[in-house]
Amino acid sequence: MKKARRNFLKKGTLGIVSAPFLSIGSCAATENKTSIKTLPVIISTWDAGKEANEEAFKILKSGGTSLDAVEKGVMLAEADDTNQYVGDGGKPDRDGYVTLDACIMDWKGNAGSVCFLENIVHPISVARRVMEKTPHVMLVGEGAKQFAIEEGFKTKNLLTQQSKMDWEEWKKTAEYRPVINTENHDTIGMLAIDEKGNISGACTTSGMAFKMRGRVGDSPIIGAGLFVDNEVGGAVATGLGEAVLRTLTSFLCVEFMRNGKTPQEACKMAIERLTQKHKNYKDFQVGIIALDKNGNTGAFAIQEGFTYALSAEGKNEVSHSESMI
Ligand code: ASP
Repeated sequence: MKKARRNFLKKGTLGIVSAPFLSIGSCAATENKTSIKTLPVIISTWDAGKEANEEAFKILKSGGTSLDAVEKGVMLAEADDTNQYVGDGGKPDRDGYVTLDACIMDWKGNAGSVCFLENIVHPISVARRVMEKTPHVMLVGEGAKQFAIEEGFKTKNLLTQQSKMDWEEWKKTAEYRPVINTENHDTIGMLAIDEKGNISGACTTSGMAFKMRGRVGDSPIIGAGLFVDNEVGGAVATGLGEAVLRTLTSFLCVEFMRNGKTPQEACKMAIERLTQKHKNYKDFQVGIIALDKNGNTGAFAIQEGFTYALSAEGKNEVSHSESMI
């Protein structure tokens, strides 16, 4: 843990330095605690975020919006069939089906989401279509799949040999329960602020491995897995979805920022709230990242081992977050 903290202090200090401040809306209480970063800034969960950030950065540099950037960025992880936590190649539910959850939000407060979606490689793009082409925010299961097909998405068997083998192995040993531990996560969540100061966010996952059929976690739920309010900032959570759902961690984190906390303080406070409400918090992992209106960022987790990738001021680096335990 000490190593992880040192690492954080070395690389992860964006967002907690003292510097002049531009007062924005109701964020005035953050005065003197944060600085104005050179935009764009992109932050993503876990190691896979690094490559995703690179892609998102390219999109922003070629004139794309933060919405284009977060969508295209996380699509890399969705298409990577060696990533067993997102999109193609994701670990299946306990009955052997890969079911995907994703959501997206833009700087205008628009939101789109799909849950329990099968056979479609890019749930994030389907979520964006839900946001842009329907009067709804969320589509689920067969209806979501039908909509995706109508929109021209191709279907595919997403269960790879590796994930099938892991499932078969789990069935032999696991008393038919989902795996809830500190390792079984890797959802990709991304927040980006473009040069105009517009923030968007995306979150996409195959969810908890070997979950019950029909289970949906926090990742596609606006306010739980992801929340963006362009007056303030955004947040994305990863980890045990049930705990995040009970405490609306991303929304809470943004509200802490609204009330004057820095992204780093807000992440820590959101995780603290979650642990106050879950006596068994030592048995699972939840991590959160946040980005404010000035490009300052934060990251915090219950357990050590949560990594995030930050693309800012010419660098794109993976760091360990600070953690509670
Ligand atoms: N939050 C996701 C879920 O519970 C899992 C993860 O982040 O890895 O479905």
